[in-house]
Amino acid sequence: MDVQQDYRGCRMVDMMKRIATLSFVSALLAVTLSPAGTAVAGSSPRFLTLPFPQTSGMRIEDGFLRGAGDVHGGVDYINGRVGRPGTWQTFPVIAAAGGRACAARSRVAGCGADGISNGIGNRVVIRHRRDGRIWYSYYGHLKNFAPGLAVGTDTYVTRVRRGEFLGMAGESGNPNTATHLHFEIDTPNGTPVDPYDVYGYRSAYPNPRGTNGRDCGNDHLWRTCPPDPPDDTSGIP
Ligand SMILES: [Zn+2]
Repeated sequence: MDVQQDYRGCRMVDMMKRIATLSFVSALLAVTLSPAGTAVAGSSPRFLTLPFPQTSGMRIEDGFLRGAGDVHGGVDYINGRVGRPGTWQTFPVIAAAGGRACAARSRVAGCGADGISNGIGNRVVIRHRRDGRIWYSYYGHLKNFAPGLAVGTDTYVTRVRRGEFLGMAGESGNPNTATHLHFEIDTPNGTPVDPYDVYGYRSAYPNPRGTNGRDCGNDHLWRTCPPDPPDDTSGIP
C-alpha cells in the first residue's frame, strides 16, 4: 500500500473522521448562532498547558481549519514567521499534561497512526485521564525523541509529567513543509477536538504570547486562556 502523505504534512484524516468533525462543527455553529442560545460555561476539564516551554518567537501557523474549509484537526505551532517556512526553527516540545505516553518513528504504524503509515512522522501520544474521561494529546513531526521515552511502542507505557521534554520539533514524515509541531487533542474514538474551542482559522486564535486579544471558547481545555507554558520548565534543553 502506498504511503499517504498529506500535502501540508499533517495527519491524513480519513473521510469518516472529516465528516464526523464537520458535523460536529456544524452542530457547534448551530448552537452558537441560535438566537435563543446563551453562552454556557464549558463542561470539559481545563488541564492543558502549552506544549513548548517559552512563547517568544512562537506562533500558530494553522488552526483547526485551514485553506478552503479543510478540517486540519489540530493546531500547528511554529517558531518563526507565519507563512515563511524558511524562518521556522526547531524548539523543545513538552507534555501538555501528565499521563502515559507511546512513541513511534516515522512510517511505523501504531501509536496514533492507523494501519497505514502517514505523514505525521515521529510522534508521541499521551493518554490523559481527567474527571473520568480519556483524552489523547498528539505531538507530530518530531525531529527526535527524549531519551526517556520508549520508542516503537503502541501501548502507553512511559509515564510523563506535565512539562516533560518529549523531543525537538522537526519535519519528519513531511517532505512538503518545514519544522513545526502538529498538536492535536483526540477523544477515545479518534475524533479531534480543538483545545481552544475555537474551531477556526489561525487568526481567530489567541497567539502563544497572548497579545492579540483573541479568546478561547467556553469549552476550552487549557488551564488558563490565553494558555501558558507550565510553571516548571526545568530540565528542558
Ligand atoms: Zn498540523
